[in-house]
Amino acid sequence: MLHKHLQSLQSKHGALLATNFYNFETLKGIIQSAAAADSPLILQLTRSSIDYIGLKTAVQMARATLREYNVTGWIHLDHSDSYDLIQQCLDAGFDSVMIDASEKSFDENIAITRKVVLLAERYNAHVEAELGYVAKLGQSTAMTGFTDPQQAMQFVEATGVHALAIAIGSAHGFYTAAPKLDMNRLTAIRESTNASLVLHGSSGIPSDMLREAILRGICKINLATEIKNIFIKTLQDQLRNNPEIDLRKVFPPAIEAVSKLVGDKLQTVKTVQASA
Ligand SMILES: [Zn+2]
Repeated sequence: MLHKHLQSLQSKHGALLATNFYNFETLKGIIQSAAAADSPLILQLTRSSIDYIGLKTAVQMARATLREYNVTGWIHLDHSDSYDLIQQCLDAGFDSVMIDASEKSFDENIAITRKVVLLAERYNAHVEAELGYVAKLGQSTAMTGFTDPQQAMQFVEATGVHALAIAIGSAHGFYTAAPKLDMNRLTAIRESTNASLVLHGSSGIPSDMLREAILRGICKINLATEIKNIFIKTLQDQLRNNPEIDLRKVFPPAIEAVSKLVGDKLQTVKTVQASA
């Protein structure tokens, strides 16, 4: 189970990379690099990606691609505020789900997260919740509310959740100013709870900062924006003044660019464990 794997990594100052995919091409780029690095990883889908690909297609495509490249991977639902969608995903065979009630009150967040934990137990699935607030794409980082270490302990005890996305200064999307993570807060959270700690909004965080976050207890690193960005930017370059209509020739450079990006991140994650 994913929980055991993350807990074992956390105790060894290691982490898993969790990458969002959006179509077959981004999935292929991700898995190719995981195969080349011989690294397990988490494949994530948001509701928008599920709506775009189709739930069954998304799961089966991910599983088939993992098998084809002989990569160990877990399928995870990223940022769901819907109990119904979580149930549908568990029925479809997801290994892990995230209930994001971080915009609700502390008590409401506990109540809905507890409900999801009880549901997921029936599927032997892993559950991630968010405490504190990591600004969503397009939102000002002024919305961010940092995670309180004491509350983190209470939240994990009250819900039984496996993993906790914490707010320590990261934000979704690209950073307009250099990101700064509150490392002392991270250490305090790690000391107050045994939950697997998750960093959202890792796109654009320099690798030495990522490494330090892993050393201090982050064991799941979420990566989405950079994948979308490099795929589309490479494709745009490909198509500029290009009469080529064979999509099998147009897509590969974009797939390779995703591979290279994810390969670099996997390397960052690996070197922490090796040096810790
Ligand atoms: Zn996120």
